[in-house]
Amino acid sequence: MTTQHQARVELVSFKKRVRKLRLDLAKAGFEGSDRFLVSAGSNIQYLCGFAGSYGFLIISADRAKLYTDGRYTAQAKAQARGVDVCESTQSPLDLLFSDLHEEQVCRLAVEENRISHALYRTLRRKLRQTRVEPVDGLVEKLRLVKTPDEIEKIRLAARLNSRAFDNVCSRARVEWTEARLAAELDFEFRSLGAEGPAFETIVASGPHSALPHARARSERIVPNSLVVLDHGAILDGYNSDMTRTICFGRVGSEKRRIFRAVREAQKAAVDQVRSGVKAATVDQAARKVLADFGYGDVFPHATGHGVGLEIHEQPRVGAGEKTRLASGMVITIEPGAYVEGVGGVRIEDLLLVTKTGCELLSRTPRQLRTL
Ligand code: ZN
Ligand code: ZN
Repeated sequence: MTTQHQARVELVSFKKRVRKLRLDLAKAGFEGSDRFLVSAGSNIQYLCGFAGSYGFLIISADRAKLYTDGRYTAQAKAQARGVDVCESTQSPLDLLFSDLHEEQVCRLAVEENRISHALYRTLRRKLRQTRVEPVDGLVEKLRLVKTPDEIEKIRLAARLNSRAFDNVCSRARVEWTEARLAAELDFEFRSLGAEGPAFETIVASGPHSALPHARARSERIVPNSLVVLDHGAILDGYNSDMTRTICFGRVGSEKRRIFRAVREAQKAAVDQVRSGVKAATVDQAARKVLADFGYGDVFPHATGHGVGLEIHEQPRVGAGEKTRLASGMVITIEPGAYVEGVGGVRIEDLLLVTKTGCELLSRTPRQLRTL
């Protein structure tokens, strides 16, 4: 695809997203003269492509305007599509306030779970004539089901993730520290074309692996133990996420049993994934297998989460979650069991929900890989 053609395709898709958002705002009771302030970076990126870390997007009935400062003006002009990029030496927020004031905006919707308390208070103070009304999750709702273009980007990010894992496994040494193993994965991500890791790569060996969100330590990998590697890459703005549990040397029967339980739990959850199924049902399937193995009490997190522009997004695949899965959602399935003093196992795959089941985006085999 030529760059020009690509830009046109992107413009059409951003405009479509903004159009859908306007319909949802109308359903939420907002009128044409009202405005919506988008302050979450990932939501701004979703609606217009701008990926800078400082910006505000104002959506009105017939236009969209992006406010950012001098550090990001050139980037905004290059990336943002379908929006006007404000250019001023004035602070972006001051400019935004004066625009809203000039346009005599009566109501301003803001993102309830995204806006900082400080910004909310400033808006209330500066815009005395405007009612500032929080709304919850409008853009996030649009982001739940991915477009074919987004799916392709995530698919490529997942593929890159698997390649990085394979490359590192082929040269990993037990003499390495956990931090070195994490650094090698990060190096592979960037070498293979990713923008970087999606989050701080987790490498945890020995009893340390029983901490679900352990930080890689500057200590040597514990031989003959379970080693949890949780890693993801950002490619073209989209995240991947995968966990494999491996071992250097041999592990005994207790650890093998934990591994078998998690692997079976993961399979049971994946088998439940299909459009129309409640997220809680998928979580329940994993939880039941672990409980049957006697590990019900050592699985302290949700079975999975959505992945897209953010590493953790909706839907949450956890207990009590009523959201029904739909074709085009991209979720992880990542049950784990963490036995204090012994070690932990987590197996995580990224998958695309389809009408009849799912497509596994993580292609790496799931068996206990021994190095
Ligand atoms: Zn992960
Ligand atoms: Zn995850």
